[in-house]
Amino acid sequence: MNIKQRLLSLKESLPENVNLVAVSKTKSNDDILEAYQAGQRVFGENKVQEMVDKWEQLPKDIQWHMIGHLQRNKVKYMASFVSLIHGVDSLKLLKEINKQALKVERVIPCLLQVHIADEETKFGLTSQELDELLNSDTFKKLKAIKVVGLMGMATFTQDTKQIEQEFRYLNSIFESLKSTHPKADNLELTVRSMGMSGDFKIAIQCGSTMVRIGSHIFGSRNYN
Ligand SMILES: *Cc1c(COP(=O)(O)O)cnc(C)c1O
Repeated sequence: MNIKQRLLSLKESLPENVNLVAVSKTKSNDDILEAYQAGQRVFGENKVQEMVDKWEQLPKDIQWHMIGHLQRNKVKYMASFVSLIHGVDSLKLLKEINKQALKVERVIPCLLQVHIADEETKFGLTSQELDELLNSDTFKKLKAIKVVGLMGMATFTQDTKQIEQEFRYLNSIFESLKSTHPKADNLELTVRSMGMSGDFKIAIQCGSTMVRIGSHIFGSRNYN
């Protein structure tokens, strides 16, 4: 199957309420255009410079999602166009996004990343840190960002029970934050970004509303 066929059959299999982010990191403009021509408009990248280059070169109706770990000094390069930032894991980073969004007169949608994996290397906030962040006066004053949901990455393991537990954990945090933190100008929890090529089916069973899928569409990545 080619990219178009893989994309279309994947989309066919996703429930209607689940949005697809086609993760195009390391992939060429030609590969992205093949998915674009098959109707895909939302693409995810994990490096700011690569996303900026692709944004400059590719059709302007593509919605670019930043899914990688983000350094504060890079926010300014994408503030004018990024449509959703998935991996926000500190108030400091949120403040910087707010600052850059003000400069370009936008409100930038963000997801807070939750630490759900059983691995030190996966970034994210604990449920207590999330609660503190959302309760802080600093957060309440940020008007140029909007937290629209949570993002999480499960442990890289074959143990599907464990993956399921981790996604269910994210979903339970989502539900409890939603009930304890009422909707505000900069807070409206709707998105649960969880699930990649290897675990998106489990993620959907556990309440995912947004899956980030790369290799399943584009084939395996070559890093060099
Ligand atoms: C690369 C990446 C994905 C997609 O991974 P695949 O296994 O290729 O589907 C999803 N989420 C994040 C945060 C990534 O960095």
